Amino acid sequence: MSRAKSYDAAKIDTLAKSKLPALGIDLGGTKIRAAAVRDYEVITEPKQVPTPEGREHIIEALVDLVSEFKTDILMGVGIATAGIVNCDTGEIIGSTGNLPGWSGTPLKKVLESKILLPVHVENDANAAGYAEARIEALRKKRCVVTVTLGTGIGGGIVLHGRLFRGSNWAAGEVGHIKIAQDNKRLCTCGLIDCWEAYGSGRGLIMTAQEMLEGVTIDQSRLVKEPGTLTTYDVFSAAKEDDLMAKKIVERWHEHIAHGLVNLAHVLNPDCFVITGGLSEFVDFQLLHDMVADRCLPRVADAIEIRQSAIQGQAGIIGAAQFVIDELLTPRS
Ligand SMILES: [Zn+2]
Repeated sequence: MSRAKSYDAAKIDTLAKSKLPALGIDLGGTKIRAAAVRDYEVITEPKQVPTPEGREHIIEALVDLVSEFKTDILMGVGIATAGIVNCDTGEIIGSTGNLPGWSGTPLKKVLESKILLPVHVENDANAAGYAEARIEALRKKRCVVTVTLGTGIGGGIVLHGRLFRGSNWAAGEVGHIKIAQDNKRLCTCGLIDCWEAYGSGRGLIMTAQEMLEGVTIDQSRLVKEPGTLTTYDVFSAAKEDDLMAKKIVERWHEHIAHGLVNLAHVLNPDCFVITGGLSEFVDFQLLHDMVADRCLPRVADAIEIRQSAIQGQAGIIGAAQFVIDELLTPRS
C-alpha cells in the first residue's frame, strides 16, 4: 500500500507481529488528546493539551505530545482530525472552521519526518466510526453507521469492517444531507436545510426559537433573552416537565430520525451508533420507533440504534487501531 511505502516490508512484518500498542491522537478545535491503544482499548492515561493556533504550532504540539510516550514501543501513530483527509497521503484536503488554516497540511509527511514512526491521518468522524464498528459487540455487523451529534453532525460508515471513504475521501459527510425544503436554515457549510442545521445543538436552538415564538414566560421557562438559550436549558426544562421544552425535544428527535431514515434507505445498515455530546439526551426507544415507522419494512427490520459504548475515546481508539489493523497489516 502506498501509505506504508516509506517502511520496508521486513520492518512492517516485525511490527505487525509485535502486538505493540499504537498511539491515538484526537485533534479537536479546542484540545488535543492522546493515549496508547491496544485491542480496541485505551491502555494509558490520556494526555491532553489545548489546541494552539496556527499550523506550525499545532504540529509542534503534536510532536511534543508524542514524545511524552515511550515511542520505542509504539507501532505507529494514528491521528483523528477535523476536516477531509486524503488517507493515502495523510494530507488535510478540506478543513473546518474549528481549525483555520489547517487545510493543505501534509500532516503524515511532516510528522513522520519528525517522530520517525509510521503515521496514519484520518477524518475524526471516520476514526470514531471505525472504532465503534470494530468493538467486539459490533464486529460481525455488515454495515455500521456512526452518527456524531454535537455542535455539528458527523458520520462514519463501516462496511464489512472497513471504512467507506467514497471516491475522493468525502463519504460520510452525513450532516449535509438535505432534510427540508423550507429554504430557511443556513448550514455552516453554506448549503441550506442540511440535517446538521436541524439535528445539531445549533439546530436544536433554532427549532426552540421558532417554537417559542408567541409563547409567554408563564407558559415556558425557556422564554428568555434572545441569544441566551442553551441546549442544556432545553434538556433540563424537558426533564422537569416543561411542556414546550418536551415538545421541542420531541421535534429534535423527529429531525434526527429524518436523517437516519434517509441513511437507512441508502445503506440498509444493521446498526446505527449515536455518539457525541448530545447523545446522552437521546431517547433511544423513541428514536428507534420514529425511524422504524418511517422506513420500508425490510429496512426497518434490520435497524438497531445504540448509544456509543466508548464515548469520548472513539477518535483516539479508531485512529490508533487503524494503524494496527490496516496500515501495518493491510488486508488483501
Ligand atoms: Zn451543510
